[in-house]
Amino acid sequence: MKFPTSVMTSSDTATYAADVLVIGGGMAGMTAALAATRAGKRVVVVDKASAFGGSAAISGGFVWTVRSVEEFASQCPLGDLELGHVLVEGYPALIARLADTGVELGDEQPVLYGRGRRLDVLGYIRRVCRKVAAHDGILAPITQVCSLVQEGRKVTGAQVRDAGGLTTILAERTVLATGGFQGNRALLHRHLKGSAARLLHRAGPQSTGDGLTLGISAGAGTSRGMDAFYGHLVASGIPEFTERQFVRFAQFCSDQGLLLNTDGRRFTDESLGDHMNAQQVARQTEGRALLVFDHATRRRAAASFVPGLESYDPVVECSTAGARLTSGEDLSAVAAGAAVWGYPAESVAGLPAGADSSAVAKSRLGAPPYYAVEVRPAITFTEGGLRIDPGGRVLDPAGTVIPGLYSAGADAGGLFAGGYAGGLASAGVFGMVAVEDG
Ligand SMILES: Cc1cc2nc3c(=O)[nH]c(=O)nc-3n(C[C@H](O)[C@H](O)[C@H](O)COP(=O)(O)OP(=O)(O)OC[C@H]3O[C@@H](n4cnc5c(N)ncnc54)[C@H](O)[C@@H]3O)c2cc1C
Repeated sequence: MKFPTSVMTSSDTATYAADVLVIGGGMAGMTAALAATRAGKRVVVVDKASAFGGSAAISGGFVWTVRSVEEFASQCPLGDLELGHVLVEGYPALIARLADTGVELGDEQPVLYGRGRRLDVLGYIRRVCRKVAAHDGILAPITQVCSLVQEGRKVTGAQVRDAGGLTTILAERTVLATGGFQGNRALLHRHLKGSAARLLHRAGPQSTGDGLTLGISAGAGTSRGMDAFYGHLVASGIPEFTERQFVRFAQFCSDQGLLLNTDGRRFTDESLGDHMNAQQVARQTEGRALLVFDHATRRRAAASFVPGLESYDPVVECSTAGARLTSGEDLSAVAAGAAVWGYPAESVAGLPAGADSSAVAKSRLGAPPYYAVEVRPAITFTEGGLRIDPGGRVLDPAGTVIPGLYSAGADAGGLFAGGYAGGLASAGVFGMVAVEDG
């Protein structure tokens, strides 16, 4: 039993009183816990996994976001601009907060269409754990949340179960930060409809929508963009797709190539980014597509997606692993290879003269050799979730605050709604806000 029983006891359940209860110890939850300790509050962090860190612990570690609210609006046109303000304006404070822990934090550098720093995520999680313990907080891994506790509408804590039995944790603030619902097939089917069945899983296995379910049980509403997700295109035909392959087989260069569906048609403006392309491929009838690119794109891809991140030559990686890859000195050769997987040869060979794509295709398919890799969409986190206000407070369907209940990270929806501006930064900023605002 991790919870001191001496605090209070009721009939058959131990009860423990804290200031802040954080449910989920990944990027959002740990940053909320850090904010709580800084404010001198007693915090309890529960996680159902045996180790803290969640998807953050297996991420690339780039804490980044866009430079301005205008850039946020352009990258996330369907996203919630009020929340976007909080992200952009809160980012410098988050970086200061991370640096203050003494953790290893790289210099600022360009990351995609914004800027960021590389964080030693595991080092950060360890440091926050030490701070929580030093401030009489409680860290409770392998602990399941059974239900939220409410007094009327107000959330006053949660009932949790660990090896020692049931405990009721009472808190002024309860922060839901369980990392989204990408690990829950039923929820994916409900919200992403047909696309759900076509998605590979590219995240830690623990995030199964518990925050969403708990929040709804307490009266929460859901956000815009419940069908949106952040993810990447992945080479198909590789024998396994586990943590080690998440970055290695992501086709980050899809924004510089051309995507054709199994009807041989282009269906999106690929330059919007690989995360947007992943969502579009998921909407195609067969949930797969052919990514065609030239040698210059291959060279750029091999040079690195983000400076500082280990780089992989997509062609070498795919051919070594036996992925669906074909190449040739002209597009007819590529077309013949791709026809075997069901892509109309005339459409592939017809690039760059294809009726709907000639101008773009000409600019993207320069000198040979050419390559085509079949891609499938993989989900990293769901972008829809609990409806929150800019203070991280959970709202009911009518937009009224549910007192005592907060959410951050991928559990909190509506921020990106199909676009993307940094998962770690948004989790960190809203983790801070959930404890400090309101
Ligand atoms: C391969 C990969 C690379 C990435 N690279 C980057 C990058 O470089 N930059 C970037 O910005 N983003 C990146 N991301 C995304 C980033 O990791 C996430 O956006 C971020 O971790 C989300 O934070 P979170 O706190 O919401 O979820 P998580 O960090 O996943 O934490 C959720 C936590 O909740 C716990 N939990 C789940 N259910 C329960 C429950 N019922 N009770 C208690 N605890 C529960 C989980 O065990 C986990 O510890 C990457 C992700 C992956 C998978």
